[in-house]
Amino acid sequence: MTEKKLLVIGGGAAGFFCAINAARLNPALKVTIIEKSGKLLSKVKVSGGGRCNVTHGCFSIADMVKKYPRGAGFLKKAFHHFFTTDTIDWFKERGVELKTESDGRMFPVTNSSQTIIDCLMSDVNKYGVEVLMNREVCELKKEDEQWVITFKSGAGLQADYVCIASGGYPKSIQFEWLQKIGHGLAAPVPSLFTFNMPGNAINSLMGITLEQVQVKISGTKLSAEGPLLVTHWGLSGPAILKLSAWGARELAAKNWQFSIIVNWLPAFNEQTLKDKFQQVRFDIAAQKISNRNPFGFPQRFWEYLLQQSGVNENSRWADLPAKEQNKLIKNICSQEFSVNGKTTFKEEFVTSGGIELEEIEHSTMQSRIASNLFFAGEVLNVDGITGGFNFQNAWTTGWIAAKAIAERRANDL
Ligand SMILES: Cc1cc2nc3c(=O)[nH]c(=O)nc-3n(C[C@H](O)[C@H](O)[C@H](O)COP(=O)(O)OP(=O)(O)OC[C@H]3O[C@@H](n4cnc5c(N)ncnc54)[C@H](O)[C@@H]3O)c2cc1C
Repeated sequence: MTEKKLLVIGGGAAGFFCAINAARLNPALKVTIIEKSGKLLSKVKVSGGGRCNVTHGCFSIADMVKKYPRGAGFLKKAFHHFFTTDTIDWFKERGVELKTESDGRMFPVTNSSQTIIDCLMSDVNKYGVEVLMNREVCELKKEDEQWVITFKSGAGLQADYVCIASGGYPKSIQFEWLQKIGHGLAAPVPSLFTFNMPGNAINSLMGITLEQVQVKISGTKLSAEGPLLVTHWGLSGPAILKLSAWGARELAAKNWQFSIIVNWLPAFNEQTLKDKFQQVRFDIAAQKISNRNPFGFPQRFWEYLLQQSGVNENSRWADLPAKEQNKLIKNICSQEFSVNGKTTFKEEFVTSGGIELEEIEHSTMQSRIASNLFFAGEVLNVDGITGGFNFQNAWTTGWIAAKAIAERRANDL
């Protein structure tokens, strides 16, 4: 029996998951991980603020795929092979318990990403996976049914199967070595960023969080709801990050110059809020507007809204003139801001774009362009919003590729 070799390019979450599971499912396979840097699993280490948000406590495929601005259709099929429940069980079988936080994010109970790294490293040793570091793959070609990979240093290796798990790259040129095999590329653009609004008066409220707001991008259908955080350079928080992910391509095309419309009380529109104002003016007519904020806004934010609407701080609810009231209602339900640029959200940065999904078989992760070539993780044109969705993509696609390679190897015997 001749030994067959699998080379996994990339020592991140997807590469490790593919390598470990392929070696485990078929011990006759010789598996090697090739990593360009001197570090393994470096993103796992820093992920989730050092706690590693491994996956999301969502157990419906239909709900889960709504969290992926790109790749939802592809993952809908892939999740039937390996889903969140499988991730939880996989780690549990290795003694790693995950816990779910109130927003659905799942972390190791130890609150340390090192637990995940130790678990993956332990299986690498257990199943005899070889790891080569400081080797950057720069070329991949097929010669006589064998894959020949070349390192930047000039040396190279041969393999029967290759899995590319090289992660996302911020620039198109970095994908060239993959395009040379014949694969198409959805050009990379940033996702998960915050909005810059230089010089805007709202920036003076930095640190204030509004629990539930709606943000829309003018002239588009893009809209998101959730908590919003005011920073010293503009707006951040889950609502903004979601919007940046869903709008990644459209906003890049606008060179990150656009207008947003914020509804600070999304349960209301201008008409229903007008009715509410009438009620408030009746109920607390004698109270000072600035002291009595009936909407639960942080006090500093309420004072800012009054100022922006030209409302005299000392007036009482009963004396609020119609013009100022209308301005205040408009500012609460549809305040407009100009956005000028973005800031990368360092906590959970991902690149949208990557290898075109039509060229990949969802049930095996094999390339439709070249046989015995597989892809896993963020190198694919898949990206999720924050919350553990990007790692779930890495586990799912890494596992599917591993299983397909292990089974192919068995059939080859
Ligand atoms: C700061 C930060 C925090 C994050 N937190 C979370 C989180 O909590 N939850 C979540 O779901 N997602 C999180 N993400 C996103 C998540 O980390 C990625 O989606 C995930 O790591 C992708 O895994 P991957 O294995 O596909 O790629 P990567 O983890 O990027 O691994 C790819 C590896 O391939 C190597 N490589 C690249 N090119 C070559 C080459 N030519 N030759 C050899 N090696 C190569 C790279 O050096 C790298 O080690 C975070 C991202 C960042 C940056």
